[in-house]
Amino acid sequence: MKELERFIDYDPAGFTLREAVIEAKRCLHCVKPLCRTGCPIENEIPDFIAEMAKGNLGAASAIIAHHSNLPAVCGRVCPHEKQCEGSCILNKRGKGIKIGKIERFIADMDGELSLTPIVIKKKVPGRIAVIGSGPAGLTVAGDLSKMGFSVTVFDAQHEAGGVLMYGIPEFRLPKQVVRREVKKIANLGVEFRLNTMIGTKLTLDMLFEEGFDAIFIGTGNALSKFLPLPGIRLPGVIQATYFLQMVALAKQKSIASREVPIHANDNVVIIGAGNTAIDAARTAIRCKAKTVTVINRARTNEIAALESEVKSAQSEGIKFLSLLNPLELIGKYFVTGLRCNIIHDPGKDKNLIITEKITTIPANKVIIAIGQRPASRIIGSTRGIEVDENGYVKTRDIPYGMTMRSGVFSGGDVVNGPATVVRAMKDAKMAARGIAQYVEAKKLMEKCGLKMTD
Ligand code: FAD
Repeated sequence: MKELERFIDYDPAGFTLREAVIEAKRCLHCVKPLCRTGCPIENEIPDFIAEMAKGNLGAASAIIAHHSNLPAVCGRVCPHEKQCEGSCILNKRGKGIKIGKIERFIADMDGELSLTPIVIKKKVPGRIAVIGSGPAGLTVAGDLSKMGFSVTVFDAQHEAGGVLMYGIPEFRLPKQVVRREVKKIANLGVEFRLNTMIGTKLTLDMLFEEGFDAIFIGTGNALSKFLPLPGIRLPGVIQATYFLQMVALAKQKSIASREVPIHANDNVVIIGAGNTAIDAARTAIRCKAKTVTVINRARTNEIAALESEVKSAQSEGIKFLSLLNPLELIGKYFVTGLRCNIIHDPGKDKNLIITEKITTIPANKVIIAIGQRPASRIIGSTRGIEVDENGYVKTRDIPYGMTMRSGVFSGGDVVNGPATVVRAMKDAKMAARGIAQYVEAKKLMEKCGLKMTD
């Protein structure tokens, strides 16, 4: 009970126990709950809200756990305004239920107090290797482990979590929260082999030889897209994902903080205006940069990032300059600025026009945040896996998520391109079912003395 008392005034940025119950009590329990349809993994939102309203936190958590292995993460970083909360009927009165904050409260409480018992399923035959421990890999590992399969997760990084650990900054997603979710998955019996890059010394063929029945590739989009501008290789030009990763590594004390490429008093320009760009901008401010300016080609109201993120960035002093087309990074030995064409906006529904007018924005650091793409390490070292013209892995619908090579499955950003945590989870949940079907069929055929073929 003492532990529970701590949650009564829990976390200023989230809900207190009282606030969570009051918010849950506002739910109308619609006959056709649009919030549930708005959630990509179709979480039983009205059901867990109903339990929360009664104060049954264990029951609420068990309902969430049925669909999600990462509720404390989703409660914080899902684009709720575009999904469950955006679909809530009460939005019509401007008072939609704060579903994300309720989910976060329940998940955090469960994480701290272990309200839901860990049920380790009786083992069924079948060993599965999962490559990548981002939301896709963790979801596959959690779901298959709950079905009773033996699962081993491989990741090149020092800690599990993928972008959750090395991309999304601490102020939006505390790393203790990620560690807690990973621990819950490990407690199901999942083995983690970290600091292990697949596709170099250890290949997929070697994993099959080691006795794995199926392999899931959830390696995300590890490479930054190249921006072919004059001056792009000048010192001071940095990739956003590299910068965010260095900040995360410095926080883990894996590198010295001086190795973080943004320092106090830097004048920083960010090219791109998606969520990664905003995370880089808000992180640069926290590295005590003097000025941070996000520039992009779109109209201000067409910025790719979530409106709430843009507002938070603006409130922290970050400047947004729209309708600029990057032309050249200038500087002799270091970058000193970014030259852009000014884009003319002839009005709504008409195409933007790049003009000959030039403007220069001074900067001693320029962060490139124009998107990511998959690395080809695994594909290059494995026969039979096909990719499309952009390097994304091709998969089949039956069994769901299987690549063109039998027994090798894939999902998440490496298949769909840069998306969201919950999109990767949705894909991974379906792939986990596909893997289970494949492995069960394989084991049955082995019993009959038969072999799986493509
Ligand atoms: P990842 O999370 O990229 O994980 C891939 C894992 O595979 C990594 O751990 C990597 O180390 C490992 N790996 C790669 N290659 C190998 C190899 N050869 N051998 C072993 N391991 C390997 N989405 C949201 O919903 N909300 C947000 O607020 C949000 N913010 C974001 C902020 C940033 C900066 C970025 C970059 C993305 C953000 N996203 C957000 C998107 C979201 O994080 C991704 O869609 C999601 O993480 C994809 O999950 P994944 O499991 O497919 O890949």
